[in-house]
Amino acid sequence: MRALVGVPLPNMPARIVSPLIGEPLPLDLVNTARSAAGEAGDVLASVGGLEEWLLAEADRLPVVTVTARTLDRVRALRGHVQTLVDAARFGDRLPADAMQAVNELLRAAPSFPQLSWDDGVRVDTARIGSPEAQLLAALAEATVEFLASPLAVLVRECAAADCTLLFAATHARRRWCSASICGNRTRVGRYYARHRLNDAVGFSRQD
Ligand SMILES: [Zn+2]
Repeated sequence: MRALVGVPLPNMPARIVSPLIGEPLPLDLVNTARSAAGEAGDVLASVGGLEEWLLAEADRLPVVTVTARTLDRVRALRGHVQTLVDAARFGDRLPADAMQAVNELLRAAPSFPQLSWDDGVRVDTARIGSPEAQLLAALAEATVEFLASPLAVLVRECAAADCTLLFAATHARRRWCSASICGNRTRVGRYYARHRLNDAVGFSRQD
């Protein structure tokens, strides 16, 4: 499994999280399988990897007990989400089998509003189904909302040569998954390449 880089997880000092945590959920999910800042590997290569990812996404996803079956199902969904994001990004027709897989997960754990009182009217969204079904449906729902949103055609790949992370370019000039990581790495790389070139030119002139 690749080393995760970026913001430290609370209560997990030894582990750090992908720089792309915080993109729309479908992109965060797809990015777990893509090269991050020169590091290839799969964040969801193990049950522990999925547990860690779910902790990093705990404000957007239910934290569930992860089994090997959960891992298989999340990875299968990730493949469909990748297919759908790729098609939507280029304005292509969405493949039927990927749409069907997402729709099935949504039917298996539908959501509904629940009214309560918390110093005022409060509405929470609840979901039926097993915790695992709820997790998959939450990911599927985020995918559907993303594909139907204007963000779907704003997906870009990081401009760093060795980084394939995807992000939604809500600012037209955004080029990097993370300006502080890939943007900075690229600038530093160019600086050294320029100076190596200058040194080489200077050396040949002295000959
Ligand atoms: Zn990058």
